[in-house]
Amino acid sequence: MDSKDDTYISGTEYTLMTLASLLPFRVRVGVEDTGDDSSYAWMEISSGSNAARVRLDLPSRRYWDSGRVKVHYINDIPVLYVRRRPEYLFQGGRCGFDILGAVFYLLSRTEEYHAPRDMWDTFPVFYSSLYVQGVWMRPLVNLWARVLEKELRTLAKQKNIPLRQVPLWPDGHTFALAITHDVDVVSTSVWHHHLTRWRDNPMKARRVPLLVAKVTRSIVKGAQEHHFLDDWIELEEQYGLRSTFYFSVPVDYRHLYDNVYRFDERIHFRGRTSCLSDVMREVADEGWEVGLHSTYNSYDNPVRLRFERMNIERVTGRQVLGVRQHWLHFDAGLTWPAQETAGFLYDSTLGYNESPSYRAGIAFPFRPYHISEYRVLHLWELPMTIMDKAVFGQSGLRMDEFIGMELCRRVVADVALTGGLVVVNWHLQYRDEHRYPGWWNVYKSLLSYAQELGAWIAPAGAISEYWDERVRLLGLDTYRL
Ligand SMILES: [Zn+2]
Repeated sequence: MDSKDDTYISGTEYTLMTLASLLPFRVRVGVEDTGDDSSYAWMEISSGSNAARVRLDLPSRRYWDSGRVKVHYINDIPVLYVRRRPEYLFQGGRCGFDILGAVFYLLSRTEEYHAPRDMWDTFPVFYSSLYVQGVWMRPLVNLWARVLEKELRTLAKQKNIPLRQVPLWPDGHTFALAITHDVDVVSTSVWHHHLTRWRDNPMKARRVPLLVAKVTRSIVKGAQEHHFLDDWIELEEQYGLRSTFYFSVPVDYRHLYDNVYRFDERIHFRGRTSCLSDVMREVADEGWEVGLHSTYNSYDNPVRLRFERMNIERVTGRQVLGVRQHWLHFDAGLTWPAQETAGFLYDSTLGYNESPSYRAGIAFPFRPYHISEYRVLHLWELPMTIMDKAVFGQSGLRMDEFIGMELCRRVVADVALTGGLVVVNWHLQYRDEHRYPGWWNVYKSLLSYAQELGAWIAPAGAISEYWDERVRLLGLDTYRL
């Protein structure tokens, strides 16, 4: 495919290549530009001179805004549309809905540009058109990719064209589960954490009694401190699994919401007391991924993100592949480009604080697209699907262990059926079963359930590296960059 410079790529080409990356075989993609209404996009399978094409309408992009988006179900599959209500999914190699318009609208996060923000400066699920249409819990792009795959397979059979297979996941796994942990707290009852938080609080004068109570409790209960990392590592070791831990860096531009632990913190780990930095290096050496949990005020700032990344790298002596913004403080037009400039392979922030979701309608790794610069960003997004707090917490769905477990299983099963990727995020401090009954159990059950269903369970970094290589094998080099 031609490109005007190294990174320029039109929204239509980008969307075609993203869809091609979700198929388990190689296709060619392109646009037949006749200069009039009969222009169309295509996806082709071929063998020698024998070829077959699926035809897709060019997107009616200017109509795609959140106020116009509606949903219509065809064969139980939810289809988004903005103008004419679609009547079929595919017929005789032709797509019956504006798949390119819909996928671009979802992945580029068009609706989040110039959208209102909540009191934490995030874009909450309630503002999204998918929530309004009742489909924020459906992996739409995954479902459409499977329908597209079916159509291409039918054509291949009719025309006797062998498909050049490139499986979605390695070693016969049918879907993937990335297990990740945001490290907001490494231990409880550390009195200087309370002091730091109090010092930064603009209401500190009124909070003196609360501070005294917390510090006193810390000192009295010092003997019962929880050092969470130990338990998570041990659990995952029992399962023979590795996960990602995103750690925060102490910075002088810290926000009231930011974490307060330091790398010289003393924590109990494997029966001894060690420096947090030594523990981070130890777990990184044993195959766990150590990523960056970037600070609240870094979300639009590549210099800060790079500084934080290099700090983690200095501690572990390894490259940091990925990042998740603390508080999910994220702005599509600012955060992705900043992360790209700061040199990350992937981000895994795209999810909601209020509910499990498919924020971009997709449960697969994908390249973000910069709307105003017409280019693909040199970064992978691994959208966060399920976060513990969003299921059980006060700012989330406030479910109990059993309902929460049912919901989590449903998400995993839905994604498994479409061959996608589930990203789960369990915070270290919710290991405390006394204060958070059931949260830890649900994590354990999720691991067993995903294993039963045939998931490839891995850290987010390993999944990003795998996907990057797979896209190269598919011949989507322009998309891969
Ligand atoms: Zn956090």
